Amino acid sequence: MAIEQTLVIIKPDAVSKNAVGDIIRIFQEKGLKLKALKMTKLTKEDAKKFYIVHKDRPFYDELTDFMSSGPVVAMVLEGENAISYVREIIGATDPAKAAEGTIRKLYGTDVGKNAVHASDSPESAKVEIPFFFSQLEIVG
Ligand code: UDP
Ligand code: MG
Repeated sequence: MAIEQTLVIIKPDAVSKNAVGDIIRIFQEKGLKLKALKMTKLTKEDAKKFYIVHKDRPFYDELTDFMSSGPVVAMVLEGENAISYVREIIGATDPAKAAEGTIRKLYGTDVGKNAVHASDSPESAKVEIPFFFSQLEIVG
């Protein structure tokens, strides 16, 4: 087992539902450590850059419009196998298919407006964490 860090974003739908506190609490109750936290608003260009891996997918334009439509809350979470553990806690991409008790089941609306993003691999986390946070902003 390895200690990992992962990037989570509370998306504009969940921020506007006032679910920020609840979502952070769920991660902390499940044993993850909060290492960095900020609220920000992405421009369309920022969102396009963040989701560049999806540039050829049919939902790219809608996704990047949505992600730049309102404030988001980004955080770094740390723990044992944090990358796959956090993916389990958030549930399937489509909230309708997400397991009971997962964050997307609780707070997601549809496959696009699904409340949260989380890094899907160590390679993604390595790129996604510095997208939002400098070394100084990640508390050791
Ligand atoms: N998405 C969408 N339509 C789809 C699939 C994905 O709008 O059919 C959005 C959704 O917000 C998702 C994001 O694009 O969270 C990234 O998709 P990915 O397949 O990477 O899902 P995730 O890793 O977020 O579960
Ligand atoms: Mg993904």
